[in-house]
Amino acid sequence: MLQAKTNGKVLLSKNALKVLESRYLKRNTFGKVTETPLEMFQRVSKAVAQAELCWGSNTDVKVWEEKFYRMLTALHFLPNSPTLMNAGLSAPQLSACFVLPVEDHLKDIFSSLKLAALVQKSGGGTGFNFSHLRPKNDLLIHTQGQASGPVAFMKIFNTATTYIKQGGKRRGANMGILNIDHPDIEEFICCKRRENAFTNFNISIGIYDHFMNALQVDGDWLLIHPRTGAITKVVKAKHLWNLIIENAWSGGDPGLIFLDTINQFNPTPSLGTIEATNPCGEVPLLPYEACNLGSINVAAFIKQKKFDWPALEQTVILATRFLDNVIEASEFPSLRIKNMVKGNRKIGLGVMGWAEALSKLEIPYDSNHAVETGRTLMRFIAEKSLTASYMLARERGPFTNWQKHASNQHIPVRNATRTCIAPTGTISILANTSSSIEPYFALAYRRQHILEGSTLYESNNTLLEYLKQKHIDPAGVISHIEKTGTLRGMKSIPSSVKALFKTAPEIHPSWHLKHQKAFQEFTDNAVSKTINLPQKAKPSDVHDIYFSAWEMKLKGITIFRLNSRKKQVLDSGIKS
Ligand code: UDP
Repeated sequence: MLQAKTNGKVLLSKNALKVLESRYLKRNTFGKVTETPLEMFQRVSKAVAQAELCWGSNTDVKVWEEKFYRMLTALHFLPNSPTLMNAGLSAPQLSACFVLPVEDHLKDIFSSLKLAALVQKSGGGTGFNFSHLRPKNDLLIHTQGQASGPVAFMKIFNTATTYIKQGGKRRGANMGILNIDHPDIEEFICCKRRENAFTNFNISIGIYDHFMNALQVDGDWLLIHPRTGAITKVVKAKHLWNLIIENAWSGGDPGLIFLDTINQFNPTPSLGTIEATNPCGEVPLLPYEACNLGSINVAAFIKQKKFDWPALEQTVILATRFLDNVIEASEFPSLRIKNMVKGNRKIGLGVMGWAEALSKLEIPYDSNHAVETGRTLMRFIAEKSLTASYMLARERGPFTNWQKHASNQHIPVRNATRTCIAPTGTISILANTSSSIEPYFALAYRRQHILEGSTLYESNNTLLEYLKQKHIDPAGVISHIEKTGTLRGMKSIPSSVKALFKTAPEIHPSWHLKHQKAFQEFTDNAVSKTINLPQKAKPSDVHDIYFSAWEMKLKGITIFRLNSRKKQVLDSGIKS
């Protein structure tokens, strides 16, 4: 086991060390780890600061390198995993999110599959919309054969990911989307029903506003052949909706993405319509676009129950610069992707540690006060990163598509998008905080799969420290949360403390949605959020959530009902 060489500079938890050792630290050709965590942060800071050479002098590089290093080792901000894993290595690919087109020609399908393999090999995730593919059993003119259809082609992508993950840095991830008017939509909605089907895919249905209008009046809905425009079937909108709800209730998929809302906020509409997102849904992208992400540990900015706004501002400004530099420090798997990325320079700055920040502020997650605080926080981050991107544009020029293609951007900015809320599945473990804007999943839990088979055990440190401050003996609490994952049923704990440490399934879904909405309002890209539901939730609850998500003009929505799948990443409690 590696030792955390802190030098007073970086305090990594045992779990963080385990994760770093298994995937992130540089290895030699024999597979032996050859760097310490501090050396990893040095490697990343140095590689990202080198980008400054494109615009400034050599002396600046050292200054920026030190600033980046301090920000990373303070665990105030961490970039997405591919940047930590690959920066400074040969031919580094540093972005977590890609969208690739799937056109209705065999050659194009396999070109995208090849690019997806290269992206996944480096730890990036890929999203696809399969709606351009002709439906299953459609006639193939040249061969007189029959088309396989979107679901069959998705199987090939799924299988490729299974094998790439064995050689790559981490499990590959895909988003598969089919629009609600595709002739094969019923098959697609149900395609993850079988246990172990499409395990490398999240699936989402592309929803239009006019579908939701038809649903509200119990109207008919037309399925349309993507090539000929012919109507292949007329169904009730409600029939498709119920099928979606039933499948989401029974296994978590499909989610929804709201195409009209997404395109309303497309920063470069004349470059094309956005049809897909990355695997976890937080970045809607044009075909061949990529986006690199990074998240601020907002819990680290609470000082004496208040946000340290000036310190947060400095970190937002520095992180925006860091992410813009990452575009220069990165290699891309094709020239087409490189040109798209350099043309729009999208970055995604987000947050992690929101639940922990709220506990430190002594605000329960399920309260209007929490939602308003979230809105204030994200508005602040959005404004400061917009200003930072504007200042970068003055120094380095705006993104090259700005002049010809930018819509609602009146001031020249360096980056077509600045913000997004990523799941921070791994980087929140490294920063030892709660993930993204999610409430605590449990106060003690087992985390599966992250390290392909090994298990991490986590207990909530903030709770234990809080109890210490309030002079409450933690002994009984620890054994209770290790058994149940929550404080529920503990008579000795005051209800005010229980309110601050509620877990996801104890929080009504409407609060999850309100937080998602508050952060979405000030996020250029989207918010990755899973509405975790208790096992006893009903299909009508899923209906209410999906419908409200559209009404609230969210860009997408995902739910997960506890224990609805045999395998799940997080398990409440440690002792079973
Ligand atoms: N991602 C991926 N494989 C994974 C986890 C994540 O390709 O196993 C990609 C995917 O595009 C996801 C994005 O990384 O939407 C961000 O995920 P997360 O914030 O959890 O990544 P982290 O940087 O914490 O590893």
